[in-house]
Amino acid sequence: MSIADNISKLKKETEGRGVKLIAVSKTKPADVLMEAYNAGQRVFGENNVQEMVEKQEQLPKDIEWHLIGHLQSNKVKYIAPFISLIHSVDSLKLLQEIDKQAAKNKRIIDCLLQIYIADEETKFGLGFDEAIELLRSEDFLALKNIRIVGLMGIATNTDNEKQLKDEFYELHTFFNGIKTSFFRKEDSFKELSIGMSSDYKIAMEQGSTMVRVGSLIFGQRLIPHWKNN
Ligand SMILES: *Cc1c(COP(=O)(O)O)cnc(C)c1O
Repeated sequence: MSIADNISKLKKETEGRGVKLIAVSKTKPADVLMEAYNAGQRVFGENNVQEMVEKQEQLPKDIEWHLIGHLQSNKVKYIAPFISLIHSVDSLKLLQEIDKQAAKNKRIIDCLLQIYIADEETKFGLGFDEAIELLRSEDFLALKNIRIVGLMGIATNTDNEKQLKDEFYELHTFFNGIKTSFFRKEDSFKELSIGMSSDYKIAMEQGSTMVRVGSLIFGQRLIPHWKNN
């Protein structure tokens, strides 16, 4: 199957149910992204700032760029002019830097809080308590150029469907609690970024609003995902 075939199949499954399809194009060269673009894909996810900036410069300007990997504060400035959504916010310090760079660019940057749900040591993210503490803090309330539009999670790298379902369910339940406690009046808080190639179907059943799909569109990457996260 071609990239175009993969995208059209996935779009039916996702966008047909109101779920946004993010094409995760990390490690793929710009001409491969262009193939996806020509098949109608406009939303791309990258996990490396430098790689994203290089591709953004080369590719059409109506692409929506999503940062899905760990972000270092000192790199925020490079993506602040164009980024559509940062999925991987995992500290107040990072959020403060995003706010500062957003202000410099006279814009508001949409962000998701990345919540730790996996049964693994290697994944980044905030614990439930840490996320609540962040949202309650005075320092957070002072930020005017960022907008938290939802939560993101990466499930355990496992074939155990019951475990995946439980991890997504737990995050969705937490999402509902956060919505009620902190964003009741904000319609913009509505995104739940869960699901990748191996588990997007389970994630959609558990309320995902955006799935981050790489290998099912572009084929296997040469580097295992845990090395380029
Ligand atoms: C690489 C990556 C994906 C996509 O992984 P696939 O298994 O190729 O679909 C999704 N989310 C994050 C955070 C990633 O780093």
